[in-house]
Amino acid sequence: MQRKDWDTYFMDIAFMASTRSQCSRRHVGAALVQGKKLLGTAYNGAPMGVPDCSEAGCMLVEEYEVRVADGKEELVKKQRCVRTIHAEQNLLLFTDREDREGSSVYVTDQPCWTCANMLANSGVVEIVFHRPYLKDNDKVQELMRSKGIVFRQLAAYEPPAGTEADVTP
Ligand SMILES: [Zn+2]
Ligand SMILES: [Zn+2]
Repeated sequence: MQRKDWDTYFMDIAFMASTRSQCSRRHVGAALVQGKKLLGTAYNGAPMGVPDCSEAGCMLVEEYEVRVADGKEELVKKQRCVRTIHAEQNLLLFTDREDREGSSVYVTDQPCWTCANMLANSGVVEIVFHRPYLKDNDKVQELMRSKGIVFRQLAAYEPPAGTEADVTP
C-alpha cells in the first residue's frame, strides 16, 4: 500500500471526526493542524448536554441555495438543520488561539459564510476542504483572498470507506 501524503492523512482524520455527527442532514468533520501536528478535531453537533438531532430530530429552516446544473446556476429551495454548532465553530471553541496562529484547518466540506468569517478571524492561514459548498461561494472566496488565507479544495481526494454518511441532501 502506498504511503499517504499529508493532505490525505489529515483529510482522512477530518472524515473520521465527521462520523461522530448525529445530524441526519450533514456530517462535517474538521481538524486543526500546525505544521504536521494534529491539535484538535471537531464535528457538527448540538451543544453538550442538550438533545441532538438523533434524539430531538433536526431543527429545519428553509432557504434558497445556488446549485449548478448543466453549467448553469439555479436557485433551489433547501432545508438546512440549525440545531448543530458547525464543525468549524466547535473546532474554534475547543482549541486555543495560540495553537491556531499560522495553522491549517482540514474540513470535509467547504465552510459556509459564517464559519468562513469566523475562521478568517481565528489565526489560521490555510483552509483545505473536499466537498464543495456553493452557497455564498463568491463571498467566501473573496474573503479568503482579501485575508490572504490559502483556500484550496482536495478535489481528487477519496474519503476512507464508510466515512461518507448517507444523508438527506
Ligand atoms: Zn440536524
Ligand atoms: Zn458553517
